[in-house]
Amino acid sequence: MTKHKIPRGTYDILPTESYKWQYVQNIFREVAKLYNFKEIVTPIFETSALFERSVGDTSDIVEKEMYKFSDKKGRILALRPEGTASVVRSLVENNLDLQPNSSKVYYMGPMFRYDRPQKGRYRQFYQYGIEYFGSENPLVDAQTIAFADTFLKKVGLKNYNLEINSIGNSNCSDDYDQALVNYFKPHLNELCNDCQRRIEKNPKRLLDCKNKTCKSFAVKAPSMLEYLDEECKIHFEKVQEYLTKMNIDFIINPLIVRGIDYYSQTAFEFIDTNLGAQNTLIGGGRYDGLVKQMGGRDVPGIGFAGGFERLLLSMEAESISFGEEQKPNIFLVTLGENADEFAPSLLAKFRANGIASEFDPDKHSIKAQMKSANRINADYVLILGDDELANDKINLKNMETGEQAEIALSEIIAKLKEKF
Ligand code: AMP
Repeated sequence: MTKHKIPRGTYDILPTESYKWQYVQNIFREVAKLYNFKEIVTPIFETSALFERSVGDTSDIVEKEMYKFSDKKGRILALRPEGTASVVRSLVENNLDLQPNSSKVYYMGPMFRYDRPQKGRYRQFYQYGIEYFGSENPLVDAQTIAFADTFLKKVGLKNYNLEINSIGNSNCSDDYDQALVNYFKPHLNELCNDCQRRIEKNPKRLLDCKNKTCKSFAVKAPSMLEYLDEECKIHFEKVQEYLTKMNIDFIINPLIVRGIDYYSQTAFEFIDTNLGAQNTLIGGGRYDGLVKQMGGRDVPGIGFAGGFERLLLSMEAESISFGEEQKPNIFLVTLGENADEFAPSLLAKFRANGIASEFDPDKHSIKAQMKSANRINADYVLILGDDELANDKINLKNMETGEQAEIALSEIIAKLKEKF
């Protein structure tokens, strides 16, 4: 028989690891509640055109990384490479901007990019993110950044930096693009193929190229901050002011442009200072023109996305606890025919009363059952034999202390409820 292998760039979250994911996902949901964001769930595939129009056809994502396919009716679809495009599509389709309490949303789910897999970079990865629609106010930028910062703090991370930049808006960004073209043009032959191609269409992308030579030119390139018009300058200053007021430390990094076309004004990244090459924990920014470009009203927006894989790697590197692995409250050991027969109804009662319960369906020896209870880390073991059953008794053993007590079977649920 052929054994099948997992596709390259993907991974299984195994039962022994899933509690870590649940732990960080629960914290993300808690923070969303604190900031009054509601969950939105969109499909894992969309029309490919959605991403081509929004993410941009010169982005790496669309140019090289999209899982694009046609279905049986010839519709051209794509596995989503990121979340914002789908959320904007849904906002426009469902008029979310006109509905109360619907324009602050969060999402969590798998994204797909065909890239070269390495530590912290996968072909299917799990993102969390938020989108905040409806206000151009720099306070909203600061709130969005604060959400991300609160989340990283709540999971317990310490070794990260917040880097921010402004990439201006359509009024000042064109002049800057021209300045970049003028700067890079004399070095054109030394740049990588991607940069040579992108210089006319999207010169800002040259600033975040990972190629060593391109990078060495990028660090000396003119800074967007010198090209910001008055409005963008004030906006960026206000964002910084609000961050400072909230005691959120940041570094200004004029090289942050983000790999996606739709950004304007504020762009930011949370960088893990320990992780290797894939060290961006969270990336985000403002995208005021996107909703209109996607056929909606002129609704400004800002958001961020982060990957759970890198978050877990960072947490592991900082030896942060993920809470406890799931384990049952009790393990029911039975001995004898009557006790075995009685077990299912007793287990049903435990569960109806919120007591997480496990048992051995094959009724091995007492010793083997005790061993199983130990191995799965049950808090308590209940031992019920035919004699106990006949006399309304059951044995309760605390697996941590080893303490044992005989309790009336009719009172066991009340007793256990006191404990859990
Ligand atoms: P982006 O959508 O490219 O701005 O990415 C936002 C965040 O998603 C990054 O900072 C990472 O944490 C995560 N991410 C992006 N691409 C991948 C990938 N291929 N594998 C794992 N995480 C990723």
